Amino acid sequence: MDCILIDIHTHHAINTEERDILTLSSYSIYDTIDESSYFSLGIHPWDIDNHVTDCALFLIQNRIHSPNCIAIGEIGLDYVKNKNREAQMYLFKSLLEMANKNEMPVLLHVVKAYHDLLRFKSLNSTPWIIHAFKPKGSIMKSLENMNIYFSLGVREILWASKMDTLQLVPLDRLFLETDNSENDILSVYELYSAKSGIAVNSLKKIIFENFYKIFTVK
Ligand SMILES: [Zn+2]
Repeated sequence: MDCILIDIHTHHAINTEERDILTLSSYSIYDTIDESSYFSLGIHPWDIDNHVTDCALFLIQNRIHSPNCIAIGEIGLDYVKNKNREAQMYLFKSLLEMANKNEMPVLLHVVKAYHDLLRFKSLNSTPWIIHAFKPKGSIMKSLENMNIYFSLGVREILWASKMDTLQLVPLDRLFLETDNSENDILSVYELYSAKSGIAVNSLKKIIFENFYKIFTVK
């Protein structure tokens, strides 16, 4: 049997016709949530300010017990688009503790904040998936040996193949995603396959196994 395709991170609604694709939709507390398929829940670092913190925590805490909510995210730290580092760190810390308490993996958005990100790793032992990940030697070195997975979309695959860093992401830590792009997930697999030389079918098996290493869903 073929392994199904997995889109580990999208903001688009699920196409229910596509039964051979497992999709993890990421919702913000501001979205209307379709709870009929797998989703993650969080608040994007771009949306954080001093006014949202406790209310966001309350809303997330209230909805993560839905049976199809299998991860917390996307959450994280973005020091380029949001200058309020204090509010971001406060919320991030609280959400990591929540993930730990509920044994849920975390889907992360990180921009120019790796030094702070790693300081938080000790707060939480559940797997992290860094989305829209651009592999660089310096970053990979500080992340190796941690329970961290890396998800790439079209933009990151093209960037990494240009920089010759695609192979830095270990295959047993790899995911692929569509995020908010118009690409379908098969075309992301095909692009990764073309750039890496790994056949799409092997890629499907690798990512399928990675998924079931960190998620305990049927
Ligand atoms: Zn996203």
